[in-house]
Amino acid sequence: MTESVKAYAKINLHLDIIGIRDDGFHNVETVMQTLSLCDTVSVILKDSKDISCECDVEGVPTDEKNIAVKAAKLYLSTVGIESGAHIKIGKRIPMAAGLAGGSTDAAATLTALNKLCGNRLTARELCDLGASLGADVPFCIVGGCSYSDGKGDILHPFPSIPENTVFVVACGGEGVSTPWGYGLMDRTYNNFTDYTPKGTENLKNALLSDSPEEFAYNLFNIFEEPVLRERPVAAKIKRIMLDAGAKAAMMSGSGPSVYGIFNNTEDAERAADIIKNNGYFAQICFPTQ
Ligand code: ATP
Repeated sequence: MTESVKAYAKINLHLDIIGIRDDGFHNVETVMQTLSLCDTVSVILKDSKDISCECDVEGVPTDEKNIAVKAAKLYLSTVGIESGAHIKIGKRIPMAAGLAGGSTDAAATLTALNKLCGNRLTARELCDLGASLGADVPFCIVGGCSYSDGKGDILHPFPSIPENTVFVVACGGEGVSTPWGYGLMDRTYNNFTDYTPKGTENLKNALLSDSPEEFAYNLFNIFEEPVLRERPVAAKIKRIMLDAGAKAAMMSGSGPSVYGIFNNTEDAERAADIIKNNGYFAQICFPTQ
């Protein structure tokens, strides 16, 4: 039997660094949202004990380096099932773009395997397992809109964004590796020795008061300014979105993907077309719960 799960991309509506831990990880304060842009992850259990993987896009690792393969291995050994699995990834989320493309495939693999194995783990246990694979994995399992202020793996509810929000997610040019992004932050902010985080109160109040304008105005990403200086294509995409009428445009994660918030699908389509005509990836999408 095949279990197919949609693996949704995430964006950061707020992303700030609130300190560096003794283990070298950065503590972040973030609000994340899943979007309808997604990979499809299909999993089957098989008799032989190996984990195999295929993907329809070149450049995505299909061996043990694929985080979905790691997730399958971890799940099957944790629940003590003596079979292997085959994972098929339909890749639509741009790679190394700050959209949690790998993390969401790992989350979908855990979810699919748990269904195939009769839900042996609770949702909480599945998230705990996911956290050992990557900080974004628990959020990708849960989806919707959440706040986190640890490594990114401990989640708290956050008010929902307006349901009819129209996004364009776009990216192009050189990718960004997460370690490079954090290194750039440490250099820019002097290792956060004297940095005051912005806080999420304004964003929260905007959402609670159901104000789309205030919501768009209060997006924040500490990575944006320094990374856009190093990634001119991402800066250009942001400019195209704003010129095409986006209420706001903001980089996601450590970049280089940028999302724009639009009043309606017509404006969003116009912006996406301009970006695509420039040779970059762009897609209209909507929030998912
Ligand atoms: P995050 O936002 O979680 O930091 P990202 O969106 O910036 O991640 P990914 O798309 O996860 O970045 O890709 C980062 C690297 O992970 C890629 O360069 C790729 O080699 C590796 N990788 C491993 N598994 C996957 C996967 N299933 N999909 C995409 N990349 C993967």
